[in-house]
Amino acid sequence: MNDSMRRAAAILLVILGGAALWWTGSGAPASASANDAMVATIAAARERAAANDPRLKPASRFEEGGWIYVHLEGDPGAMGYQHGYLLGPEIEDGFAAVSAGMMHSTERDWEFFRKAAHEMLWPKIDAEYQQELQGIVEGLRARTGSKLDVDDIVAFNAFEELPDYYVPWLNKQQKAANAPNLKSPGNCSAFVATGTWTKGGQIVMAHNNWTSYRNGERWRIVFDIAPKNGYRMLMDGFPGVIASDDDFGINSGGLMVTETTITQFEGWDPKGKAEFVRARKALQYAGSIDEYTKIMLDGNNGGYANDWLLGDRKTGEIAQLELGLRAHKLWRTKDGVLAGSNWARDPKVLKEDAPQFDPANKESSPNARRARWDELLKENKGKIDVALAEKMLGDHSDTAQKKEEANERTLCGHVDGSPRGVKEWDWQPYYPGGAVQGKATDATMAKEMRFMARVGHPCGGDFLAKPFLAAHPEQTWQEPYLRDMKAGPWTEFRSSQTPKE
Ligand SMILES: [Zn+2]
Repeated sequence: MNDSMRRAAAILLVILGGAALWWTGSGAPASASANDAMVATIAAARERAAANDPRLKPASRFEEGGWIYVHLEGDPGAMGYQHGYLLGPEIEDGFAAVSAGMMHSTERDWEFFRKAAHEMLWPKIDAEYQQELQGIVEGLRARTGSKLDVDDIVAFNAFEELPDYYVPWLNKQQKAANAPNLKSPGNCSAFVATGTWTKGGQIVMAHNNWTSYRNGERWRIVFDIAPKNGYRMLMDGFPGVIASDDDFGINSGGLMVTETTITQFEGWDPKGKAEFVRARKALQYAGSIDEYTKIMLDGNNGGYANDWLLGDRKTGEIAQLELGLRAHKLWRTKDGVLAGSNWARDPKVLKEDAPQFDPANKESSPNARRARWDELLKENKGKIDVALAEKMLGDHSDTAQKKEEANERTLCGHVDGSPRGVKEWDWQPYYPGGAVQGKATDATMAKEMRFMARVGHPCGGDFLAKPFLAAHPEQTWQEPYLRDMKAGPWTEFRSSQTPKE
C-alpha cells in the first residue's frame, strides 16, 4: 500500500467514524441492526487500514494441529504490534479468562492488578519490553478496537506471579484478616537428559504444562520470534504474553530451556524485576548456562519461582537452576538426567523459600511424580529420545497407589478425576486442571530450530466442559470461560515455517 492509499484509508475511517457519530447522535430511531451494521462496517474499515500497516509485513500466522503459529520479526515495537494484531481475538479471549481467574482466587478487583502493574512492575521493565508491550496494545486496538491499555496488558503478562506470589506476600504484610488461601502453583512435569542417558548421547528435553484447563486450553501458541537484537527464538506461549511462561523454548544461541515451579514457595520482592521479563530476556539473550543464570538472577523478584532445566546443545551440558528468592542453586552435568515435577531439592532453598513443603510425603503430587520420573528414566537409560519423551509426558502410572490411573499424581495430570485434589496448591477435589499440552525436542532438532508439540492432555485424552460442570456445580463461576480441551496430534514446528499447501 502506498502513502496515498494509506491516507485514503485514514480519511475513509474518519468519514465512517463521523457517520457513526451522526447516526447515533441524531436521535433518529435507528434500528439496532442498522446500528450493528454500521459498527461492523467501521470495524472492517479499521481492520483493512491496520492490515496494511508496514509493521505487519514480515509477520505471519497460520494454524496447525490445534496450535496457532505466529512469526514475529523486527524491532520491539513492531514485534509487539504484530503480536497484538495477529492474535487480537485470542488476546481478548485469553485476557477475559485469565483476569476472571485472578480476581476470583485473590478476591481483589482488576484495578488492584492494574495498579500493581503500573506502580510496581512497569518501572523495572527493560525499555525494549516496554516498547513490545505497548506495541501489543497498539496492534490489539487496531485489530479489535479493544479498550485494554498497557497496564491491563502488563498485569495480564504477570498472571503467574501477581495472584500467587505478590498477593499472598501482600496479605501477610498487611496481616489481612480472612485472606484467601493462595498457594504458588504447581506447574508442570519435565526433564532434560544427556550423555549415556539418551539415544546417541545428545540432549533430549521434554515438558508438559500443568495449569487450570480454563487457561491451559488457551495455551496453544507457537511463537517464532526473530528480534532485531538477541537470538532467534522458538517457544510455546499464551496469546498476549511476551514470555513462554509455562515455559518451553529454544534459541539460536544453542540454549534449550524449560522448567517446573517450586511447590509451596513463599516470597516476593516488590523492588525486583517481573519474572516474565527476566524469563523472556534470558531466552532472547543467553547463549550459555552461565548467561542464563545471570539474567534470571538479575533483579530476581521471587515471582513464579522455578526449577529451570537447561541444555546447551553446543556442549552437551545440561543444568538445573533452582531459583528461590533467598536461596538458589545450580547443578550441571554432561552425563545425567535432571527431572522436575514441582519440588525443590536444595536444603537451603527448601528451608528458606519453601518451608511448608514436605519432601517425605509420598502421596503428594510433586513427590509421587518425582518417584515416577526416577523409575521411568532409569528404566529407559540409554534409550531416551523424542519419541519416547512424548510417551513419557502421557504417562499415567501412580506410584503412591502403585497402579495405572490418570490422576493428580501422574506425569500426565488429570486432577479433575481426583477426589483428593492437590492441597499443596489449594486445588480442591476434582479441580479442572492438570497437563494441558506437551512439547519435546533434542539437540539435533534444536540446532535446526524445531520441536514437537501437542495440544491437550499429552496422553491424547479429551476434557469435556459440559458434563464436568454439570457434575461439579462448585466450578460454575468458570462456565463462561471453561471450554472443551481436546487433544491434537503431535505436530512438528520449526523456525520460518510456512503453512502446508
Ligand atoms: Zn493423560
